[in-house]
Amino acid sequence: MTSQTGKTEIKRRGFEELQNHVLLKSLCTGCGACVITCPFKEVLDYALNGPSLVGECTKCGICLRVCPRYELDVGDLEQMVFGRERRPEEVFGLSKTVCVARSTRKYILGACQDGGVATTLLSSAFTSGAIDGAALSGIDTSNPWLPKPLLTTTLGEIVESAGTRYSYSPNLLAYNTGVAKGLGKIAFVGTPCQILALRRIQRASLRKHSRALALTMGLFCYECFSYEGLMIKKIQGEMGMDLRAITKMNIKGDFILQTKSGQTTKIPLREVKSYAEVFCQYCSDFSAELADISLGGIGLEGWTFTVIRTDKGEELFSQAVNKGSLEVKPVEDFESAFKLMKKLSKNKRSRAEKNRKERF
Ligand SMILES: Cc1cc2nc3c(=O)[nH]c(=O)nc-3n(C[C@H](O)[C@H](O)[C@H](O)COP(=O)(O)OP(=O)(O)OC[C@H]3O[C@@H](n4cnc5c(N)ncnc54)[C@H](O)[C@@H]3O)c2cc1C
Repeated sequence: MTSQTGKTEIKRRGFEELQNHVLLKSLCTGCGACVITCPFKEVLDYALNGPSLVGECTKCGICLRVCPRYELDVGDLEQMVFGRERRPEEVFGLSKTVCVARSTRKYILGACQDGGVATTLLSSAFTSGAIDGAALSGIDTSNPWLPKPLLTTTLGEIVESAGTRYSYSPNLLAYNTGVAKGLGKIAFVGTPCQILALRRIQRASLRKHSRALALTMGLFCYECFSYEGLMIKKIQGEMGMDLRAITKMNIKGDFILQTKSGQTTKIPLREVKSYAEVFCQYCSDFSAELADISLGGIGLEGWTFTVIRTDKGEELFSQAVNKGSLEVKPVEDFESAFKLMKKLSKNKRSRAEKNRKERF
């Protein structure tokens, strides 16, 4: 297998290779890793949800080494992060502790998606000085429910960004803003593909971009949905709903919308499936298996399913628990959620394998 650093082999291959093997095959997630790490000015630009070549490529190969969809060797990344590769029975990747938790802070519980663990951990890390900022997904006030990558550097911004927007948010662009501003300790929140991209950046020893990475927080993700398709065409167009009136969206068996007036609308998942992004159909990672800590809702009401994977993740989580910011329950009390999480991890992997086999 090609080494992930792959310097000698990947050199002399450039953006054209990425274009042919990732973009033209609809595998590109639009994470932006290639754009932010391209060492040459005005060669790659982030446009139309992904990279575009605007200058002359020198074929340095860096874009290929950081792409989560090009010659990805997960085992090699696991060696880097955990010091070993997973065993076959470790179906949701390597972990230290699995539990279920929720915030004890009312102002977070009122704004978050599930148990508010993501926002509580970020707030705790920010208050203790463990991070100077967090790259996450903020609220776009002009386009309701369109996620917007945001570098947050205040507690207020972290809390205001709580909750889930189900369309793709290239949070690496926000991370890059933090790097450009010279922030020393940045937490990153994002989908599994984005965590993989950051791990590849670390593996490629790109110091400028990896040294500020203080923590990776991954969100469980089966797929994300096109904003134009789901929000504009289906919900606004066909269903005639005012997107500004929606206060929360969640997937719990159905796609569930809550509005300011207290109304709840359920859309069967099969009706929204056609708006799932094509690139997600080739992704094998449900639970952000390379993150320091991974979080999901998994059908729970008001609790976050939590997988602590690394020492860093454990330290951050313990600090928040010791401060009394988080309430924790053993995973044994949530056996069916745990089973579902393992099942979705397996299903997502086999779906990706099947789709890749059929198509390539
Ligand atoms: C596209 C997407 C699909 C998901 N699919 C599943 C699923 O199938 N099953 C499951 O169990 N869980 C899924 N999740 C995770 C779940 O919705 C919650 O994010 C998770 O349970 C954490 O909840 P919380 O209350 O602790 O987070 P909160 O405290 O509410 O914080 C959520 C964090 O997520 C960030 N965020 C919001 N939208 C996005 C986005 N589009 N991209 C990146 N970051 C974002 C916010 O900025 C915030 O920092 C998905 C999340 C996303 C973004």
